[in-house]
Amino acid sequence: MSAFHREKVLSVRHWTDTLFSFTATRNSGFRFQNGQFAMIGLEVDGRPLLRAYSMASANHEEALEFFSIKVADGPLTSKLQKIREGDTILVGRKATGTLVSDNLIPGKRLLLLSTGTGLAPFASLIKDPDVYDRFESIVLVHGCRQVSELAYGEELVARLRDDELFGPLLSEKLSYYPTVTREPFRNRGRITDLITSEQLFNDIHQPPLDIETDRIMMCGSPGMLEELKVMFETRGFLEGSHSEPGHFVIEKAFVER
Ligand SMILES: Cc1cc2nc3c(=O)[nH]c(=O)nc-3n(C[C@H](O)[C@H](O)[C@H](O)COP(=O)(O)OP(=O)(O)OC[C@H]3O[C@@H](n4cnc5c(N)ncnc54)[C@H](O)[C@@H]3O)c2cc1C
Repeated sequence: MSAFHREKVLSVRHWTDTLFSFTATRNSGFRFQNGQFAMIGLEVDGRPLLRAYSMASANHEEALEFFSIKVADGPLTSKLQKIREGDTILVGRKATGTLVSDNLIPGKRLLLLSTGTGLAPFASLIKDPDVYDRFESIVLVHGCRQVSELAYGEELVARLRDDELFGPLLSEKLSYYPTVTREPFRNRGRITDLITSEQLFNDIHQPPLDIETDRIMMCGSPGMLEELKVMFETRGFLEGSHSEPGHFVIEKAFVER
């Protein structure tokens, strides 16, 4: 049995010259937990060329969705960015990852902290009714350099707010906080600074960080994750895993090669 399924691309959307998203068919046997990732890619010269990708779709959805970077000289994304409807992609049979609710001890507020394509696993998690059951409030933070890079997340949240099932859940529980570092915007600054200064919590009219109530998932650049990890550990937060749930969990949005 092959290690991956062959899926058909259903749609492709380019958001900026460095970001695109696409949907694909989903094999009925492909199961995953919201927040997980799988190896996906293309067949190149008769061989699979695969990279880790978070599912941006939720596990109740029929199609798969991915939110991707375009790296000009990247072995996979230099080609993947050219896919069109009807093309074939490879999707690994096994999903894995640490950004799952079971890796967190119960809490009241869930902070989802992301930069760039690190938004992808949270695009899946904010479509998970179970997450709204487990937490009284959810704060989705998405940091980018430019305003145009926020578009995928902004549109997703707007669509869910209009959704019959998710609309009421979002208005009761979800605070969405997009922020940029290199352009004027209503929210400015790096996630670490926004938490340390309490600006984030002031802006959304919520209490500051509290280890008793807050649980955290983060996905972004390795540098940002390292900074946040140190900041949370200094305040007594413990990292969770499959073997032992904790106050926060981490997934790299990419690795530096
Ligand atoms: C657990 C995990 C989940 C991931 N999920 C996603 C996802 O949902 N969407 C996605 O686009 N990528 C994701 N990635 C990154 C992905 O695996 C590839 O690195 C990416 O698709 C580029 O592949 P490549 O072969 O073109 O270039 P690579 O050789 O893989 O990367 C070249 C360089 O590009 C930069 N880079 C790679 N990916 C990114 C990125 N996402 N954002 C910013 N810079 C990057 C890094 O500096 C890297 O060294 C994930 C990585 C991990 C480890």
